[in-house]
Amino acid sequence: MTALDTRAVHAGRSDLAGLGVHVPPIDLSTTNPLPDVDLGGACYEALATGGLPPAGGTHVYQRLWNPTTGRFEQALAELELCDQAVAFASGMAAVTACLIAAAAEGRRHVVAVRPLYGGTDHLLATGLLGSTVSWAAPDEVADAIRPDTGLVVVETPGNPTLELLDLARIAEQCGGASGVPLLVDNTFATPILQQPARFGATLVLHSATKYLGGHGDVLAGVVATNAEWAEKLRRVRAVTGGILHPLAAYLLHRGLQTLPLRIRHQSVSAQKLAEWLASHPDVERVYYPGLAECDPQHLIGRQMTGPGAVLAISMRGGYEAAARVAGACELITHAVSLGGVDSLIQHPASLTHRPVASEAKPHASVLRLSIGLEDVEDLRADLAQAMASTAEPLSTAVAAKP
Ligand SMILES: *Cc1c(COP(=O)(O)O)cnc(C)c1O
Repeated sequence: MTALDTRAVHAGRSDLAGLGVHVPPIDLSTTNPLPDVDLGGACYEALATGGLPPAGGTHVYQRLWNPTTGRFEQALAELELCDQAVAFASGMAAVTACLIAAAAEGRRHVVAVRPLYGGTDHLLATGLLGSTVSWAAPDEVADAIRPDTGLVVVETPGNPTLELLDLARIAEQCGGASGVPLLVDNTFATPILQQPARFGATLVLHSATKYLGGHGDVLAGVVATNAEWAEKLRRVRAVTGGILHPLAAYLLHRGLQTLPLRIRHQSVSAQKLAEWLASHPDVERVYYPGLAECDPQHLIGRQMTGPGAVLAISMRGGYEAAARVAGACELITHAVSLGGVDSLIQHPASLTHRPVASEAKPHASVLRLSIGLEDVEDLRADLAQAMASTAEPLSTAVAAKP
């Protein structure tokens, strides 16, 4: 197999020369002419039950399958060292499909380790899809597993405070290959920094909206997995209608080509800013896996090839200082989401983690930053002026404390 950077550029493109094109065509057809009733029907049957399009057949209807989306899936699977991948219209649609696929086999119980992305936490905590959840500490996963447990759900680095989990130890508690499937949300790390399948994950999930797209203009989700689970997920996707649109898939496939470069450059800037913030008098604590105290298990180097480009800080001045810094940044955009070429700052307790139960909600003093590709000195200067503004009286524009 070629190196990661080579795969990022070339994966999912092996048929292009044969088609006489250099970049992937975008296939927007919602329906496709049927060769004849029998073959059309056989193709429909195969796709609607989670199969791949039969050779020489048709893909019938866009909700069942799409070749542009298929190319992105192929590329992402190769980067994650998985057999296949299944792409969805959002990260939450991907999480939903995993829960439905497990429930379809009668396993509605989920073991999950906090912290998780607020939307995932909310979906599990409310049981909206008929699932129940047991929240477990990382070393209590085995004890929490029951006969009806269908998934173990973890995220590392965790959102928003970047805790790292030892995936091999979690996978071991899941019972290995014949045990409960381990779902790892790999959104923050991306396959450039961490390939969870190497450590025993069955399902590697991304909000592709973040780093994979990388430019803040695509909403998408994807799950890289083995052939058996890919079939289950495609079946759920065909029936419930969560497939990724081909235009979005095209942009994601293009985004993968620069993913290694973006991740490495953004990580270098994040490390510099984390070190600077750690010595800033207004900052109580920096959460960033590239700081030794945030990686007590030495997972950087062992499980991850680098700490990534998301960091969090807690402000000594509590909620008021955090709200003022978020509002006072000028170059860094005050907005949710992460993983794009431009830097973002947001207040998790008010926004991304708003629906999370109070005992698991991030502290009101915490801000999360996603570091982009801007010059790191410009980013530092913007944060410095935003921090300096915290000395001024509270603006009436600052939202009420949640
Ligand atoms: C954003 C995010 C999600 C949800 O993805 P959407 O594309 O917004 O539906 C899930 N997990 C993590 C870690 C995220 O950051």
